[in-house]
Amino acid sequence: MAYDVTFIPGDGTGPELAEATRRVLEATGVEFNWDEHPAGEDVYREEGNPFPDRTLDSIKRNGVGIKGPTTTPVGSGFRSVNVLLRKELDLYACIRPCKAYRGVRTRFPETDIVIVRENTEDLYAGIEFEKDTEQAEKLREFIAGLDGGGSIREHSGISVKPISVFGSERIVRAAFDYARENGRRKVTAAHKANIMKYSDGLYLEVARKVAEDYGDIEFEDRIIDNLCNQLVSRPEEYDVIVLPNLYGDIVSDLGAGMIGGLGLAPGGNIGTEAAMFEATHGSAPKYKGQNKVNPTALMLSGVLMLRHLGERDAGDRLERAIAAVIENGDKVTYDLKPTRDDPTAVGTSEFADAVIEEMNG
Ligand code: NAD
Repeated sequence: MAYDVTFIPGDGTGPELAEATRRVLEATGVEFNWDEHPAGEDVYREEGNPFPDRTLDSIKRNGVGIKGPTTTPVGSGFRSVNVLLRKELDLYACIRPCKAYRGVRTRFPETDIVIVRENTEDLYAGIEFEKDTEQAEKLREFIAGLDGGGSIREHSGISVKPISVFGSERIVRAAFDYARENGRRKVTAAHKANIMKYSDGLYLEVARKVAEDYGDIEFEDRIIDNLCNQLVSRPEEYDVIVLPNLYGDIVSDLGAGMIGGLGLAPGGNIGTEAAMFEATHGSAPKYKGQNKVNPTALMLSGVLMLRHLGERDAGDRLERAIAAVIENGDKVTYDLKPTRDDPTAVGTSEFADAVIEEMNG
C-alpha cells in the first residue's frame, strides 16, 4: 500500500532538503504517492499568496504532510506559512525530539528528550493592547481596581495569556500518548504555577489529573526556570517534557542547542485531523542552491512521519542509518565537521547518498 502524503518543498534551501529527504524515505521501501504543492516566498511572488488553497486542501485530504522550510519576509504583510498551517489545521501539538547522536560535538551528550509544546494558546493567542490606546487604558483602569491589580503602571503594553482546560488536557494527553507509543518512561510538565496561579496553575492541575489515566508512565512537574537549570546540568534525568506555548518555544531551541544545533532538530505538528512534519530550522536562504546545508533535521522529521504512519520498523532503520553516518563523520555536511570550512564536508545530496548506502548496503 502506498501512502498519500502532501509534499511541500518550501523555498530557500527547502527544495534541496526536501528532495534529499524524499529520497531517503523512498529508500526505506515504504511506498508514497507524493502530492506536491507549493508554499512560501516563491509562490507568493508568482501568485500573491504564500499558502495557496490547493496546498491546504491537499493536507486536509491526505491528513499527513512533510514540508521544507519557508521564508517569512520581514515587514511584507506576508503571514508565516507555519502559523497559518497550525491555525487552519488546528495542529495543536508540536513534537520535537532532541537526541544527541554520537559523533556530534555537544557538551550534553546524554541528551535524549522529547519536547511537546502546546501550539495554540498562551501569549501566542495574539491578544495584545498597545500602550496609551483607549482599550489598554480601560483595561488598566479595570485591573487597577482589582485586588492586587495596582501594579500595572500608566503607559503599559498588555499581552493576555489564555490557558484553557481543553487546551491543557489535549496537550498533556498528547505527551502521554507519545510516551506510551514510543516506549518512554516519564512525562515532566513544566510551568510557573507558583506565580501565574490561574493560567499555569490551571495547566498543572489538569496535567496532574490527566497523569492519573496513565499509571504506566511516571509523572512529575518542574517550575520552568528550574527545568532549564536542570536540563543543562542533568539532561539524562529528563524524558518527555510537556510545556505551554511560550516555554515550549524557548525550551525547543535550548534542546536544539544541546544536541549540536539547528541542522539536527526535527519536528512534527500534530492535530486531530492532520499532521505536518518539518525541521525546527528556517530556510537558511544564504545557502540556497549550494547543495550545502544539513538535511538531518528534515530526514529525522521524516522518521517521525514514518512512525506516525505506523511504519515503525522503517522509521527505526532510517534513524539508525542517519545516526551511523553522523557517528562515522566522513560523509557529513560542513556544520558537523570540526571546522566550518573543512574541505572534506559533503553536500546535502551526498549526505542522502551516504544514508541510503548505510541503510541498504
Ligand atoms: P535559519 O534557521 O534559516 O538559519 C539560521 C542559520 O542556521 C543559517 O544561516 C545556518 O547557519 C544555520 N542553519 C539552519 N539550518 C541549517 C541546516 N539545515 N544545516 C546547516 N546549518 C543550518 O534561520 P533564519 O535565518 O532566522 O530564518 C530564515 C527564514 O526562515 C526566515 O524567513 C524565517 O522566518 C524562516 N523560518 C522558517 C521556519 C519554517 O519554515 N519552519 C522556521 C524558522 C524560520
